[in-house]
Amino acid sequence: MTGKCEGMKIPITEPTIPDLSALRSGYMRILKSRMITNSAFTRELEAEVQKRLKVKHAIAVNSCTSGLMLVMKALGLKGKIVMPSFTFHATAHAAVWNRLVPVFADCDPETFNLDPKSAEDAITSGTSAILAVHIFGNPADVEALARIARKKNVKLIFDAAHGFGSSHKGKPIGSFGDAEVFSLSPTKLVTAGEGGMVTTNDDRIAKSVRMGRNYGDGGNYDCEFSGLSARLSECNALLGLESLKNLEKNVARRHEAVELYKKSLSWIPGISFQKIEKGDRSSCKDFAMLVDYKKIGISRDRLYDMLVSQGVTVKKYFYPPVHKQKTFKRFAGRNPAARLKNTNYISENILSLPLYSHIETATIIRICSTIKDIILKDLAL
Ligand SMILES: *Cc1c(COP(=O)(O)O)cnc(C)c1O
Repeated sequence: MTGKCEGMKIPITEPTIPDLSALRSGYMRILKSRMITNSAFTRELEAEVQKRLKVKHAIAVNSCTSGLMLVMKALGLKGKIVMPSFTFHATAHAAVWNRLVPVFADCDPETFNLDPKSAEDAITSGTSAILAVHIFGNPADVEALARIARKKNVKLIFDAAHGFGSSHKGKPIGSFGDAEVFSLSPTKLVTAGEGGMVTTNDDRIAKSVRMGRNYGDGGNYDCEFSGLSARLSECNALLGLESLKNLEKNVARRHEAVELYKKSLSWIPGISFQKIEKGDRSSCKDFAMLVDYKKIGISRDRLYDMLVSQGVTVKKYFYPPVHKQKTFKRFAGRNPAARLKNTNYISENILSLPLYSHIETATIIRICSTIKDIILKDLAL
């Protein structure tokens, strides 16, 4: 059965589907041309990303994870790589697949991004790179990280999975560090169904990633290195291209939604939000709140359970943090409880609320009043 009851459940996110008629005619062109992967639409998508992000190279791949793997390979990284633990686990997977050892550094308690000081402290003689993330689309501290990378002579990569629509001092995310890697998966602002995009101003990295997405084969069947099968299909590229056209509109809508959330929730003592530095723009890939149990009198987990039971899909992004996950625990290092204090606190108290580019005002109002009812009822008990 479809209809009312099902419609009442609010998803955490969903992709915003672009104009169907443009997609329909594009699919016809792809199928008629019989060039169904890594062809005209992929090149058009790359050119469009280069132009928008003001970056020299954009190389389309089939996921952000494979893009990160290929960038690490292109840079010839060895040994250790410093990264946040407060991130989506794919950041760490890419490193481990390259036989790198992830070293987790703490995040900033307000921006939730990799703390440059903690990252610097984590660097040792065996470290070859820093991998930072623009968490929820909030630009990382790109300048401080670049300074540290230069000083310590290590590479700097950004996992920009959340970064379409983000900018730092008016400059779009995409040309910072040695390379940045975007995701085009369904939960991201620009989606190709599945896909990723490597952006860089470095000709050598670009050349290597281009070859690497095609097995490491430069075209003469005589492979230069072990690459991946990581090309973007034309159907995905078309969807990505049409989705990209709506980026500015969708970011603007998310900003409106976030403002409404903040206005409706800020009266609650003990609820706080991610800090965006002045001059930065977040894509608002996600909207999260920190729940301070001591002030609000209700735990994040109880609020989570109550909201889910009332049809509001909320998520604990990112919980557990990477260093506590089964496969990554072995990399947690010495005394993670003290070293990763902010990471632990945030992951234990954060709650992501529903957000997508076509979310309706009425939906946000319903979510906020549900939160209010839960909290008031809990306090009355
Ligand atoms: C979604 C995401 C990824 C992985 O993207 P894929 O395109 O699915 O590989 C990597 N890092 C972060 C921070 C993400 O949110």
